[in-house]
Amino acid sequence: VRSQVSADPMAFVRPGAKIPLGLKRKPLRIVVTGGAGFVGSHLVDRLLARGDNVIVVDNFFTGRKENVVHHIGNPRFELIRHDVVEPLLLEVDQIYHLACPASPVHYKFNPVKTIKTNVMGTLNMLGLAKRVGARFLLTSTSEVYGDPLEHPQKEEYWGHVNPIGVRSCYDEGKRVAETLTMDYNRGASVEVFYVRIARIFNTYGPRMGIDDGRVVSNFVAQALRKEPMTIYGDGKQTRSFQYVADLVEGLMRLMEGEHIGPVNLGNPGEFTMLELAEVVRETVDPQAKTEFRPNTEDDPHKRKPDITRAKKFLGWEPKISLREGLPLMVDDFRRRLFGKSKGSSL
Ligand code: NAD
Ligand code: UDP
Ligand code: UDP
Repeated sequence: VRSQVSADPMAFVRPGAKIPLGLKRKPLRIVVTGGAGFVGSHLVDRLLARGDNVIVVDNFFTGRKENVVHHIGNPRFELIRHDVVEPLLLEVDQIYHLACPASPVHYKFNPVKTIKTNVMGTLNMLGLAKRVGARFLLTSTSEVYGDPLEHPQKEEYWGHVNPIGVRSCYDEGKRVAETLTMDYNRGASVEVFYVRIARIFNTYGPRMGIDDGRVVSNFVAQALRKEPMTIYGDGKQTRSFQYVADLVEGLMRLMEGEHIGPVNLGNPGEFTMLELAEVVRETVDPQAKTEFRPNTEDDPHKRKPDITRAKKFLGWEPKISLREGLPLMVDDFRRRLFGKSKGSSL
């Protein structure tokens, strides 16, 4: 008989475990795959601060130990180097499944590996969740909507995706991951197995890889280095940029709430790349220049979340606008790019 962890958060706790200050229940054991990455490391900070136990599972493809090094030595924190494409045995209460490169530059680098991570990695983590009766949250993506024909995108929209293009390893990979998640859920007894699906829209913030290749990190790093900001195509394509702390709040509410999803988590503020360059210029350097480069294949023309569902089911909406969030990221990038040479301890 599997423990009904989700129904009773006390069920999986070791007898005699100390309840950290401020926590009204016994601590959970939570796995964060991809926890050494950009989003994962912020999530880990929040879960540990809340008083739970966290196991990070990461193969360090795009993640960095620096993102979680401040937790080393905390008895409630564990870091495991592991590739989710391989099976993994753990006893846990919740699984946040983030492991997957998110920047087009990285996910296109080895597309077969990206597909394996999305399909076999998600299968393994679902198998693990089923075996121990843990609650499972998949971080899917707005890319499942492809180059959308509906705007803004609602969760009911099935998307417009090229199955054989250079982005397919990621967007079709995440679509299969969603399918697997729903099929495991349908196949399991609802009493003991719960899943959640978040569809995340473009997110930025401190700890993004400086050379990660995504647009916000590229523009900020380029402006700080006094290099021209590279605008792909005509720059009229749009994206909606969400600050990472807003996303983490949404992910935690989704995990703890009653709804499977999928739920869009994104900031509805929509910007063209030309407008984004302008905001970066205002924030970093009024003299910053731009240059145009050919766009990448199958680049979606527009993207903006409809977040009605997240508002209704999770009581969630983003709080931090691009103009408020960007300076926080710029401070972090400035410190990482130039901190050392100024004799900082980093
Ligand atoms: P990231 O690249 O910073 O983090 C991904 C992490 O997963 C890294 O630490 C990496 O080393 C790890 N990883 C990759 N493949 C792995 C494997 N096979 N086994 C174990 N670990 C592996 O990216 P991120 O922005 O933090 O994204 C986290 C998740 O959120 C991803 O699943 C991504 O698809 C999703 N997402 C992010 C965004 C965004 O804008 N940041 C948007 C949509 C969806
Ligand atoms: N799996 C895992 N850890 C576990 C349980 C399962 O990694 O604790 C993997 C398992 O190796 C398999 C996948 O998850 O590849 C799916 O497992 P499931 O039991 O659902 O299916 P089956 O093993 O019957 O294919
Ligand atoms: N982009 C850009 N300059 C860059 C990197 C990206 O103009 O240096 C554009 C890219 O063509 C896309 C948008 O910015 O239209 C968002 O790209 P990103 O890789 O950040 O994320 P995506 O939403 O495509 O996954």
